[in-house]
Amino acid sequence: IDASYRERTPTSERAYEELYEHVPAGVASTYRAFEPYPMVIDRADGPYLHDVDGNRYIDYDLNNGAGMVGHNHPAVTDALRDQLENGTLFTHPHELLGEAAEAIKDRWDPIDLVRFTNSGTESTMHAIRVARAYSGREKVLKIEGSYHGAHDYVLLSKSVPAHKLGHPKQPTTVIESEGVPEAIADTVEIGPWNDLDAIESILEENATEIGTLIVEPIVMNVGVTQPHGEYLQGLRELCDEYNVVLIFDEVKTGVKVAPGGAAEYYGVEPDLVTMAKSIGGNTPVGAFGGREDIMREIENGAAHYGTYNGNPLVLRAVTTVLNEVLTDDAYDHVDALGDRLASGYEEIMADEGLAGHVEQVNSQGIVVFTDEEINNYRDFDEHVDVEFHENYWFAMLERGVLPHPHHASQQWTISVQHEDEHIDRHLEAFKDVAPMLAEQ
Ligand code: PMP
Repeated sequence: IDASYRERTPTSERAYEELYEHVPAGVASTYRAFEPYPMVIDRADGPYLHDVDGNRYIDYDLNNGAGMVGHNHPAVTDALRDQLENGTLFTHPHELLGEAAEAIKDRWDPIDLVRFTNSGTESTMHAIRVARAYSGREKVLKIEGSYHGAHDYVLLSKSVPAHKLGHPKQPTTVIESEGVPEAIADTVEIGPWNDLDAIESILEENATEIGTLIVEPIVMNVGVTQPHGEYLQGLRELCDEYNVVLIFDEVKTGVKVAPGGAAEYYGVEPDLVTMAKSIGGNTPVGAFGGREDIMREIENGAAHYGTYNGNPLVLRAVTTVLNEVLTDDAYDHVDALGDRLASGYEEIMADEGLAGHVEQVNSQGIVVFTDEEINNYRDFDEHVDVEFHENYWFAMLERGVLPHPHHASQQWTISVQHEDEHIDRHLEAFKDVAPMLAEQ
């Protein structure tokens, strides 16, 4: 696989070597580097990515799940072009701010007030700050395996090696990056996904200290790991009982698993919601919002600043995506394609005697090559063979399908610009690859 990848991508290899001379790891976000080297992208259109060697991929990565609208959506491109002519940054209020905030509020019942940011990282950083200010308690409870961005308060216990995990009911807080102070890690407790009793014990033990619980309502940095049974509702009840601000980090789920994100999909109301990529049609935007009494902390001393916050360029993208592109018909379209893709995978695996199953919620899905149930990060870490998964990934790439970002824990996203023919080609590629995987 390595040899055929190199054969197909010699220009990428040279371009990457050049990039490496200028930027650490040769990439703009460290996560994007992988062995032997990532393909270097020339351009995108609709559901396709084109690399500098002229290879075309049907793109199910869509920028780590950012783009349920696909690339260069004509409505978004038109809106951006129009805004370019009228100014791209005013550090004064403008009416688009209200329009974009309303479009978000229309989708999330729990959101009374919204602030815009420039990324998911900024959204979770500010939401946590506001939650701390409101609760008056410093400690945050975070779930093992979840990713909430690149700031110090959340770069903890994401990809923990097995020997550092600690007790399953009381996981160790593990720092994920050099340079994150111990003092910050001391303010974050880690809890397990899908174990309500454990969360209750941690809240009980830290009742005067923990004021914030942040969760990905579907753990989409561990495949597509859904909350089981009444877990999410249980978290809501525990947060009420212990006076804890519940934050749903909907950066990956928001406006994708349902128009109003996972909050709508599961019918559970968080106090604050964070979102980013999926609302912006591939422009750099984030937002956080929630209950009025909590969000008004921003008027009471909880800082939220930023020159580029709510710039008109991205707000035009947001209003276009939410009001024009992601319509009810669009959801019907992507959800149906998602079901087709998932059942197609299941059928092929059954036919080939290949162990595995699909974890899927509408347009989001992942194949895991294990029959074991995945309830949380530890299950994933134990049962998903990353090397085996990489073989699948490269083999799909060779057949013109980019199933998801390079890492095994990521999922596919289907956009409004994917059609049945793209699902057919995805499944044909997998049909071709499956016998080879079954032999391994
Ligand atoms: N939260 C979640 C759930 C995410 O998946 C991500 C990014 N994948 C982030 C936050 C950070 O978003 P950004 O990369 O825009 O900073």
